[in-house]
Amino acid sequence: MQSSQTVAIHDLTFVPLLSEQQIQTRVGELGAALLARYEGQTPLFISILSGAFVFASDLIRAYDDDCEVGFVKLASYQGTQSSGSIQTVMGLEKQLTGRHVVVVEDIVDTGRTLHFFLDLLRQQNPASICTVAFLRKPEAVEYPVAVDLVGFDIENQFVVGYGLDYEGLGRNLPGLYQLME
Ligand code: 5GP
Repeated sequence: MQSSQTVAIHDLTFVPLLSEQQIQTRVGELGAALLARYEGQTPLFISILSGAFVFASDLIRAYDDDCEVGFVKLASYQGTQSSGSIQTVMGLEKQLTGRHVVVVEDIVDTGRTLHFFLDLLRQQNPASICTVAFLRKPEAVEYPVAVDLVGFDIENQFVVGYGLDYEGLGRNLPGLYQLME
């Protein structure tokens, strides 16, 4: 699957965008920023599956203090509306009322996933919500969504690695790769 520089997955070739070292350094900075924000509190990190699981696992270990972790799995349904909506497939078992919640997302593309999930979250009256995205594509954003912490802003290109897949493969790559033009 892997050559020295490029990565072939199914029918496509990807080129390196971010090294494992670059990613780990930035995740450490994000962890430190969260530590400063939640000093003395016990935030609940909610990782949106599947893509965010690698980022979330590194981020909580960069957060060197008490915290809890939960997971949600979301699915999008187009239905009759072109915008579609997001539904919870696997919900949270934890009570969110009064909690400080950190939403961990892999990538904000159109912003649709995060936008709808934040609506669901607010209905449960958490004490505060902080959104953290490993990646954001500023040119692709269609839904108004505030991302408090962003790992990297990238161009509007398809990427794989560090939890993100192309048709099921590539999630286990420690670096990030972008589709070769
Ligand atoms: P949204 O458009 O709702 O912001 O993004 C929805 C989801 O699409 C993301 O959570 C992510 O799983 C997936 N996605 C968006 N852009 C990419 C990309 O470049 N590569 C991969 N592998 N998934 C992406």
